[in-house]
Amino acid sequence: MDVAQNKFLKVKRGVMLNEVIEPVIAYLDFEFEAGRVYGLVTRGESGAEEQLEIIRDYAATYGIQEEFPEIISSRVMEKMNYDDKKIYTWQRAWSRLLHQGIIISPPMRAVCLFDYLLPSGENMKGKEMGISQHFFGKAFDIESPSCLVKVMEVLSIAIEKKLPGLKSFSQERAGGCLHINCEKVNKGYSVNI
Ligand SMILES: [Zn+2]
Repeated sequence: MDVAQNKFLKVKRGVMLNEVIEPVIAYLDFEFEAGRVYGLVTRGESGAEEQLEIIRDYAATYGIQEEFPEIISSRVMEKMNYDDKKIYTWQRAWSRLLHQGIIISPPMRAVCLFDYLLPSGENMKGKEMGISQHFFGKAFDIESPSCLVKVMEVLSIAIEKKLPGLKSFSQERAGGCLHINCEKVNKGYSVNI
């Protein structure tokens, strides 16, 4: 098992792998090959600092930093006054991203400040949202700008076939990225087939 050998699902340089996600990425290469589609793993295990950097980048891209300039120099644990309460200095920009349909987890557990409707119709405004599965090393992201639909097909097939360690996937950020949730498989499982 060596994802460096992957031909269809490549891993971007610098992405941190671990024993939970690496076997899944290695095995998925066969599925991508069968589906004749290419993808790039752009994020693996990562933490709050990296999450804040992603939020900062998106806030700049979508013009949100003009409205909430505190995001520019925000730190993970830093707080500010907002109405009569204390909030994180990234909390308004992050909440605005959700409001605009750019789905991203917060760097720390936090309340969403603006309207954000889940696919179920539930409004998350005023409700707490949890941190990303990336923090626990149980998720990775795939980007495939030209053929995301095809990648979703391949992943659905792999889930149906019960590929070990592969749990579920969803679209995140502005929809250009797929987030894959994994679980640890029993020891002794090998992707060599
Ligand atoms: Zn993700």
